Amino acid sequence: MPLYPDRIIVIGAGPVGLCLSLALAQADLKVCVVEALGDDNFLEQVPRAGTNHPATLEMYERIGLYDKLEPRGIIAPEFHYWDRHEGKRIAAFDHIHLKNDTRFPYVLQCERIKIVEEALKMAKAHPNIDLRLNSEFVSFEQDADGVKAHVVNAGGERETIEGRYIVSGEGARSIIRKDLGIGFEGFTYDDRTLNIEVAYDFRRHGYAHRNYISDPNEWSNLFHWKGPPDRWRVHFPTDPKAEETELMRPEALQARMQGFLPIGKPFDIVGSNLYVVHQRVADKFRSGRAILAGDSAHVNSPIGAMGMNSGVHDAINLADKLIAIARGEADDSILDRYDRQRRHVAIAHTQAQTIRNKRLLAEQDLVVRQKNHDELRRTAEDPERARKFLLRTALFESLREAEAIL
Ligand SMILES: Cc1cc2nc3c(=O)[nH]c(=O)nc-3n(C[C@H](O)[C@H](O)[C@H](O)COP(=O)(O)OP(=O)(O)OC[C@H]3O[C@@H](n4cnc5c(N)ncnc54)[C@H](O)[C@@H]3O)c2cc1C
Repeated sequence: MPLYPDRIIVIGAGPVGLCLSLALAQADLKVCVVEALGDDNFLEQVPRAGTNHPATLEMYERIGLYDKLEPRGIIAPEFHYWDRHEGKRIAAFDHIHLKNDTRFPYVLQCERIKIVEEALKMAKAHPNIDLRLNSEFVSFEQDADGVKAHVVNAGGERETIEGRYIVSGEGARSIIRKDLGIGFEGFTYDDRTLNIEVAYDFRRHGYAHRNYISDPNEWSNLFHWKGPPDRWRVHFPTDPKAEETELMRPEALQARMQGFLPIGKPFDIVGSNLYVVHQRVADKFRSGRAILAGDSAHVNSPIGAMGMNSGVHDAINLADKLIAIARGEADDSILDRYDRQRRHVAIAHTQAQTIRNKRLLAEQDLVVRQKNHDELRRTAEDPERARKFLLRTALFESLREAEAIL
């Protein structure tokens, strides 16, 4: 009978793969992490997630990551909704309403790249983690007792790594999901999102570190990131028919920024990129000994900052189940509960909420817009309603709902 080594193979050293690996290793499980990038290019990844919700901060604290991230980020207790059409702030939500619910009544604005940089350092230092950088995962097989991952290692050779379970933290293009034939149903928005980064302090105009700006013609998001130098990221919708080269011309980027806020001088544009936005959830998150987590299991619009956050929640939920199996406290049917809990969150919370968020910002009907804005204002002004609202946006409600699923 082939005996597989007692270890978990994690594909991908993104935020999800690393948080999972750290949680497993700290509970004395052996982990092998396979990551295509190497020390020479790991920090060259394009800007992506960065808003970390209170529920996620609690999980970072559990694995010892929070203290490393806080000095590199911005503590942001408030976020705003603005009406660009009228040039007015609609509502300010303050996480202080969650002071009795969490030790972290704020979000931490700390970019994905800083999170993986710090988590990777911790993974390198952990004796239970065998970290394989510069190693490309290509395929896998499984039987009743274990899994075999086939990789092209840092030396360019094909190698087979064996373990008890394999977790896809590979991101949206997951080979494991495709090899298993698991559907990834949903849709892709026609309009790509344009991200422009500028060195300019928007607080002098009354903005918070994090702002959602509604406009029937050109909704946007405005976020502050810690430097040096400090940067502010502005997201805009784009015309689906426009050419990428046209959208990304320096004059076109400058015109967008001046249209957003004329400041009487050119903005110092320090970065820009264009990305496609999908709303998709995998048909199942588990097949035998192979499990999907994070973007390999679900992708969504970044409006509301829920992709990476809910991926980290997958990681911690899954870690607890793999730990229980390793300790003989549960059998492996507990992984079906992971599937039920986290698919529910992906569909009923992450996807539903991000679709609603985009609709709210882009609403064309003036009567509906007014109604939505009045509702937001009333919610923000009433402490009990604001707390309820924040329990949902800070992702506590999704965790409580998942806990109730058997
Ligand atoms: C513009 C933008 C803004 C966003 N903002 C937010 C936000 O504010 N908050 C939020 O919660 N989410 C946000 N998101 C979403 C967030 O970035 C993702 O949900 C998150 O990065 C997913 O993490 P992951 O670890 O699952 O996958 P990834 O971050 O994609 O990491 C996957 C890792 O796997 C590696 N890999 C892939 N294939 C292989 C292979 N074959 N072999 C070996 N290694 C492999 C990759 O190199 C990578 O390191 C945003 C996304 C975008 C595009």
